[in-house]
Amino acid sequence: MPSFEQAREKIIEAAAGLRHAPATETLALLETLGRVLLEPVIADRDYPPFHRATRDGFAVRAADLATAGRTLDIIGEIKAGDSFAAEICAGQCAQIMTGAGVPRGADAVVMIEHTKPSKARVLVERTAESGQNIVAKGSEARAGQTLLAPGKRLGYAELAIAAQVGRTKLAVAKKPRVAILSTGDEVVLVHQTPGPFQIRNSNSISLGAQVSLAGGEPVLLGNAADRVEDLRMKIETGLEADVLILSGGVSMGKYDLVETVLRDLGAEFYFDAVEIRPGRPAVFGMCRGKPVFGLPGNPVSTMVTFELFVPPVMDLLSGAKPRPLGLFRVRLEAPVRLKAPLTHFLPARIEWGSGEPSVRELSWKGSGDIVALGQANAYLVVRPEKLELAAGELAEVLPRRGAL
Ligand code: AMP
Ligand code: MG
Repeated sequence: MPSFEQAREKIIEAAAGLRHAPATETLALLETLGRVLLEPVIADRDYPPFHRATRDGFAVRAADLATAGRTLDIIGEIKAGDSFAAEICAGQCAQIMTGAGVPRGADAVVMIEHTKPSKARVLVERTAESGQNIVAKGSEARAGQTLLAPGKRLGYAELAIAAQVGRTKLAVAKKPRVAILSTGDEVVLVHQTPGPFQIRNSNSISLGAQVSLAGGEPVLLGNAADRVEDLRMKIETGLEADVLILSGGVSMGKYDLVETVLRDLGAEFYFDAVEIRPGRPAVFGMCRGKPVFGLPGNPVSTMVTFELFVPPVMDLLSGAKPRPLGLFRVRLEAPVRLKAPLTHFLPARIEWGSGEPSVRELSWKGSGDIVALGQANAYLVVRPEKLELAAGELAEVLPRRGAL
């Protein structure tokens, strides 16, 4: 049985082998947030485009200020956006504002706070060094330089870069379409009133939300009964999407038919169990050229296994490198002791009470307990090699996407 890391590697290998170029669409800049860029964004000119003052003060020749307490003649004023033709000669300076171009002859800016200006002259209280408070032309980027390469997922800083170089539209990958099919005779639609032993379909909703958060387009196919014909028909519809995710029907029960039906449809499986809790019966395969996940139906299992296994496929289908899981370490508040030799993902809460973050396991009733997960902003990760963790030690956590 693979560990969750080995399972992820198998998934990444299989999805990387698909090798078809992602479909492209060109969108207005703000609409590209979260998408994967499919063309380079290139600097249209040097950045900064001129020697830029980074403080309000006076543009000076540093050589004039080798000693503190010198007085200089003010020959003009330069606001951001101004062009200023005159050259600063020995003994001269110009008043300058943040964001303005440093004039010829000047090689430093002294902060206004360090001066005593009178009408036409200014006393500079400190010495100056060449280059101080100036960002040199072209020092951030050169004209023609690639600032964003294809494959980059676009966040707010990337959008600002595109805006800076004058791009109003960008070619990005279409969101992968991810079909979601829940299974189970006990499952009813969210708006329906369940019978005494029925439950509402929360998995299709959590999966739809997780697909959206990971950058995909959810396609909700509703629920299939635990019958071969119904499952087969709905799985075939799901295979028209780029990825298919099923929930439920992958355990050892008499009515867990998902694997059987997928196999009949020609699926090739990469694994049908993973050394994790919750989520051990998770299945991954390729069916008719499409990645297919059979995630266990218990709601917390469904959510954890999605987070562990599905986002890398969505990245690869969009032309991006698979994102790492993003595990990190936080100080544990109370000891944790587990028995089963698996990797555990426990609902947990990270708090920043007194500055340094700490994490604690939340009490929960197992993998059906979504109520507990609603209180969690992370999963505490406990590995089979070390099932007992002491208070105060640094423990691994997996953030809950969108909750941290
Ligand atoms: P299964 O994996 O099909 O054995 O289901 C495991 C548990 O998850 C059972 O208690 C199911 O009732 C529950 N479950 C299955 N599908 C869903 C769903 N779509 N929404 C909420 N709970 C579900
Ligand atoms: Mg079931």
